[in-house]
Amino acid sequence: MSTTQISTDRLEAITSTILQPTAAAGVQGRTGRFEEVIAGLTSLITRHRPSGAEVLRFPPVMSRALLEKSGYLKSFPHLLGVVSSMTGTEAKIRALVEGRAAEQEWVDALAATDLVLTPAACYQVYPIVAARGDVPITGVIVDVESYCFRRETSAELGRMQAFRMREYVCIGAPETAVAFRESWKGKAQQLANQLGLPFTLLPASDPFFGRAGKLMAVNQVEQALKFELLVPVNSDEAPTACMSFNYHQDHFGTTWGLRTDGGAVAHTACAAFGLDRLTIALFATHGLDFEAWPLTVREALGI
Ligand code: 5GP
Ligand code: ZN
Repeated sequence: MSTTQISTDRLEAITSTILQPTAAAGVQGRTGRFEEVIAGLTSLITRHRPSGAEVLRFPPVMSRALLEKSGYLKSFPHLLGVVSSMTGTEAKIRALVEGRAAEQEWVDALAATDLVLTPAACYQVYPIVAARGDVPITGVIVDVESYCFRRETSAELGRMQAFRMREYVCIGAPETAVAFRESWKGKAQQLANQLGLPFTLLPASDPFFGRAGKLMAVNQVEQALKFELLVPVNSDEAPTACMSFNYHQDHFGTTWGLRTDGGAVAHTACAAFGLDRLTIALFATHGLDFEAWPLTVREALGI
């Protein structure tokens, strides 16, 4: 059996036994075995939590107004999911849901609410910290996690529409944010080694919308604003981004009026861990049977 054959079998097994497919593409149930690894990763990442970090956990929805203000619609309108709900009189809604409204489907009565599905965990953090006043010159670190949603339909393993993102977010002076991002590029490689994952760490860009977005992506790479830790899952040629390390310069600082107590606009950076992708990468690398996983990896995860 060739390597490709083994890996194809493994991918199919992950898709059908470690995850539970549903009627919706890119939306899977997580099995007990999958969640055991998620729990192990969660405590491993917590053991590396920077001292003094504030912990915040969020439900998968956030304020639409705050996301609009953050500039998300300029860069990624194609990925956003919005919470909509029924409006209108009882008679109108009943007619629609019972299929009695002429040439109208029930979805025609939907209107956007004040909520969107959170696209990245750290978006919740900046306005909250900004509302508290100046950040100390030494910076603020937040440990945040949220289920995130991105409207990306693909059958590719690891491309989910809904997934858990854990992040360490740094807000402070420019050199504090840069140093934080650099240190996490190093720590993440140690983590990947501890997990026995083969990886590359490369400059990357976000999937900005449209033709203008291509230029933004080139700019992002040129300025080395984003790096990804990639692990082969579907193929060696197109490895999967399992963690990312981002320096936003003054984007969120300016947007939210974040200032250090020296009065300068704060810069921000984040280290993001894709918990579901890391779990998939672990099963793809070490196989489906925990017994066969390297002892050091099992110990690191407590499984
Ligand atoms: P970023 O904000 O850098 O695009 O995403 C942060 C991390 O979330 C990525 O490194 C990756 O691990 C995870 N992530 C991004 N998109 C997806 C996705 O479509 N599915 C899953 N499972 N994880 C994703
Ligand atoms: Zn982030």
